[in-house]
Amino acid sequence: MVATAENTTTITTTVVIIGAGVAGLTLGNFLLRSDIGCIVVEKHGRAYVEKRQRAGTVDSRGVRMFREWGLEDVVKDDSSPKEITGGTWIDGVRYPIGFEDDDTDAVFCPQQVLVRNLTDAFLEAGGDLRFEALDVSLEDIDSERPTVRYRNPDGSATTVTCDFVAGCDGFHGVSRASVPADALTLYSHEYKYSWLSIMAEVPTDPFGMAIHDRGLAARFPRGADASRLYLQCPAGDTPEQWPDKRIWSELQARFGADVPTGRIVDKRIVPLRSVVFSPMSYGRLYLLGDSAHIVPPMSAKGIHLALYDTEVFTHAIIAKVREGDASLLNSYSDTCLSHVWNYQAYAIWITDLMHDAGDASYEGAFRKEIARAELQRLNDSPAAGRLYGELSGGLL
Ligand code: FAD
Repeated sequence: MVATAENTTTITTTVVIIGAGVAGLTLGNFLLRSDIGCIVVEKHGRAYVEKRQRAGTVDSRGVRMFREWGLEDVVKDDSSPKEITGGTWIDGVRYPIGFEDDDTDAVFCPQQVLVRNLTDAFLEAGGDLRFEALDVSLEDIDSERPTVRYRNPDGSATTVTCDFVAGCDGFHGVSRASVPADALTLYSHEYKYSWLSIMAEVPTDPFGMAIHDRGLAARFPRGADASRLYLQCPAGDTPEQWPDKRIWSELQARFGADVPTGRIVDKRIVPLRSVVFSPMSYGRLYLLGDSAHIVPPMSAKGIHLALYDTEVFTHAIIAKVREGDASLLNSYSDTCLSHVWNYQAYAIWITDLMHDAGDASYEGAFRKEIARAELQRLNDSPAAGRLYGELSGGLL
């Protein structure tokens, strides 16, 4: 429903989704397919959102979920490798861990491709997506009728009243910031190291990671001739301390082999953190994905958690709207948090395992042998490998 008065348009819908990232667009597509009214409100323009480089994979659970919703094409990317083969190198020895699980449906799909495909699917199905929504604000979220306001680039304003708000606007968004500070508990863990994250115009073959006394190194594909490279570095390093020449020589030293070089198009420091906000809801605002929790990129589980929250929330909204049953909405936070903590435990374990060898002040040499033993065990023991595969989705 739309009404216009003095430069302000007022709309009503069932769910306002803040943020057109992975969680917001997936939720929009699911609600649209369930005939539940929704509007997605995104502060950036379409071109910006569809170019933002971050994750590179969707794990088995995510791929299966999209298939079940008839959205299997959103994870298709012609430029990415089809074969998931790779591993972790320690002193020149490769440990395949989990990659060769026949059961895996995990795929390479750069996050910006997933976002572009989800946007296309949403718009083609008639979805309402508002890009460049400026100064988004949330009001009355603890009432029966929350309101979301934003400014349009032409200076006009839009007010949307709704039944529910889905906060899918990432870690720095406005949704969580709209909750009174004393209503949420923050749990966080800072790692002692960071990543230098590099985008380079260079093919990635083979891909994988290296555990080394100098720190972790990683190379992952991001399309046909592009790679995301990571180098463990001390927390507090700046990109200026990492000239291109140093990057290539560190990669070579840590992998213990020649690595192809190419033009570096971006380098930045990524702090590694684990964060959870609890509960994941307040009044009629529900937090999904990075707005409620983040895991270090080493675990490659940010997308997984965003998709998990989205699926739980979708089923809860469907039950409420179609049958008046609020029980799944009431348990939304508990359901998601128990899953999130499981993956936080996995994320800390795998992150420390892969980085500890690079910290001489923390028994680095000893920790390297522990990492070797763990990787060997995952490789040799079907039971350990299966458990690891379930958590990791068969993919690092
Ligand atoms: P986001 O993707 O952050 O989307 C939020 C959206 O909300 C954005 O479009 C943003 O513009 C919009 N927004 C923000 N503020 C507002 C506002 N005020 N109003 C309206 N809109 C707003 N995960 C993996 O699974 N595997 C990986 O390999 C991996 N690698 C990563 C590497 C890096 C360098 C980083 C930074 C992250 C990585 N992640 C990885 C994590 C993953 O990218 C996130 O977990 C994922 O993007 C979460 O999705 P989301 O939809 O919750 O949030």
